[in-house]
Amino acid sequence: MKNFLVVLFCTCLLAGCALNLVTGRKQLSLVNESDLRLMAVNQYRTFLSENRVVSSGSSKDAAMVDRVGARIANAITKYYEGQGKGSVLEGYAWEFNTINDAKVINAWCMPGGKVVVYTGLLPVTQNETALAIVMGHEIAHSVAKHGNERMSQAMVQQMGGMALEAAISQKPQETKNLFMLSYGVGSELAAVLPWSRQQETEADKYGLIFAAMAGYDPREAIAFWQRMSEAGGGSTPEFLSTHPSDETRMRKLKQFMPEALKYYTGGK
Ligand SMILES: [Zn+2]
Repeated sequence: MKNFLVVLFCTCLLAGCALNLVTGRKQLSLVNESDLRLMAVNQYRTFLSENRVVSSGSSKDAAMVDRVGARIANAITKYYEGQGKGSVLEGYAWEFNTINDAKVINAWCMPGGKVVVYTGLLPVTQNETALAIVMGHEIAHSVAKHGNERMSQAMVQQMGGMALEAAISQKPQETKNLFMLSYGVGSELAAVLPWSRQQETEADKYGLIFAAMAGYDPREAIAFWQRMSEAGGGSTPEFLSTHPSDETRMRKLKQFMPEALKYYTGGK
């Protein structure tokens, strides 16, 4: 009986946790990633229909967002498949969209690779390499399953551990808000939730590596984060509300740089 209880206890613990293949860290994961991807498809469609999408056929900026996204997606797909970890990007159907809103300094990535960049971010990135740093960072949050971790915590704390499917049918608006909050998608209705320091550190580390794999110089990250911390003209840019920056970030970026540079071949 005692052994049975021990086994049961361990099984429960294991079921609620998952080893992330990118970071090697065990994370709370009470929600199916496939359910989140399905939810992302719906929320992404709704979001695009309610915002001004810039066509990449008529805008150099939107074409740049597409190009950077495709280069990072291709590079990491090739890398993880080569490592026998193709499951990292299982179910990803990448989409990159640019939203015309000069006032919003932000970018995010929903599960399954649904990415948005606001035009307001581009005066801060200033160049394609810095854009790759930001998009690499957002994509790193996604493949490190940080949103799942936050959504799982929220389901326990705010929905009493209800399953996602049940929550969607019984409390659709509340569940949608938790989803947007978990993925750093700002909205006028929902509050913002900063990523944890551990999540930020992981996104910085793998973001640098992903940008480097795609042929972008990771050293641009230092200048970019300096520009970001000075951006906003007195008000805090949305990006900094969800990705708080401080001295620790700069120190760790410099610390990660030698490893990231191993993946950088000078854009060749
Ligand atoms: Zn972040």
